[in-house]
Amino acid sequence: MLNLVLFGPPGAGKGTQSQYLVEKYGLMQLSTGDMLRGEIAQGTPLGLEAKLLMAEGKLVPDAVVIGMISNKLDANKGGAGFIFDGFPRTVAQAEALDELVKSKNEAIAAMIALEVNEEELERRLLERGKASGRPDDANPEVIRRRIKEYNDKTAPVAEFYRNQNKFSSVNGIGSKEEILNSVVAIIDSL
Ligand code: ADP
Repeated sequence: MLNLVLFGPPGAGKGTQSQYLVEKYGLMQLSTGDMLRGEIAQGTPLGLEAKLLMAEGKLVPDAVVIGMISNKLDANKGGAGFIFDGFPRTVAQAEALDELVKSKNEAIAAMIALEVNEEELERRLLERGKASGRPDDANPEVIRRRIKEYNDKTAPVAEFYRNQNKFSSVNGIGSKEEILNSVVAIIDSL
């Protein structure tokens, strides 16, 4: 199996690149953000819990997202591998993911980070908000809160994978194809 973590701040382009990688390598994308929005849309208790936190730009509790990922791994055995998009977002989540894949005799092959500066992130998120109607993309204050959460809690996750010699990064500014080519070069060198 090829299991990849796609990493980067909100608006870095993880979802877009994940979709290309799904097509190119036959991987399954696991986006915790998409899963949480699905729970909200269905009005589940989990969705109700997550909704307020997400609207404020805060992370939802580790146990919630770890549980969702664990269920997906159990339900999708025997595929080509997974792309983790928007997960792990804390060091505790990264540790839990290591345990989950280890218990299935699998491993994370690499973390690939998309690097984009904060000014460009804010611009992209506001632009996306116009089209998507995502409430957390509409408000500059919430966007800044998400970027702060990223800097405080998520950025240290890069160190976790660097310590395992699994970290690579690419420039996340450029055409989607250019960025994909950089990501593919890393994957094909694994
Ligand atoms: P983006 O990366 O563009 O902010 P996501 O769809 O990945 O968008 O995440 C949207 C929101 O969902 C986050 O701001 C957070 O509240 C919540 N969320 C998603 N994934 C996680 C996670 N792994 N841990 C905690 N909260 C998460």
